Amino acid sequence: TDTKPIDLNEGLESTIVLVRNNIPDNVKVIKELGNLPKVECQPGKINQIFMNLISNAIQAIKSKEVQEEEEYLTIKSWYLDQQVKVSIKDSGIGMTEEVKHRIFEPFFTTKDVGEGTGLGLSIVFSIIETHKGNIEVISKPNEGTEFIITLNVNLP
Ligand code: ADP
Ligand code: MG
Repeated sequence: TDTKPIDLNEGLESTIVLVRNNIPDNVKVIKELGNLPKVECQPGKINQIFMNLISNAIQAIKSKEVQEEEEYLTIKSWYLDQQVKVSIKDSGIGMTEEVKHRIFEPFFTTKDVGEGTGLGLSIVFSIIETHKGNIEVISKPNEGTEFIITLNVNLP
């Protein structure tokens, strides 16, 4: 398909710019973007992944009943062994095991009607699949959530 070499850090930066006004003042955005080679992928699709994950992270923080003085949204990228990894981590509500097992199902949502369609992560999953990449989730209720995406520099 229509892939080209993409700088994932640029995609992350431009996504942050788009959501910036939605980030509450108590949320510290920490960026640790490493030196990355370009990754062969479908440009629009990758930004869709970042937008979905970052929007979910912000919503997870906003939906905490008790806000800490400082909440965190941490976005990291690094390169290792022909693979680029991106981590998007939040200090939000986190997920129970039951929720975690269902998040990639189309239409699965824990959000109120009108707030979530439950499609974001199923789309993320299929885009990652198309790119033969990988996505991992680490999450704990009341502690937060981290999504780690792995993409191959060259499509296998
Ligand atoms: P939606 O955001 O429309 O609910 P998604 O597919 O994006 O749909 O996410 C599905 C569900 O996964 C969410 O309703 C929520 O329960 C859970 N989830 C996703 N991201 C996070 C996160 N960062 N923190 C806590 N829960 C999350
Ligand atoms: Mg979502």
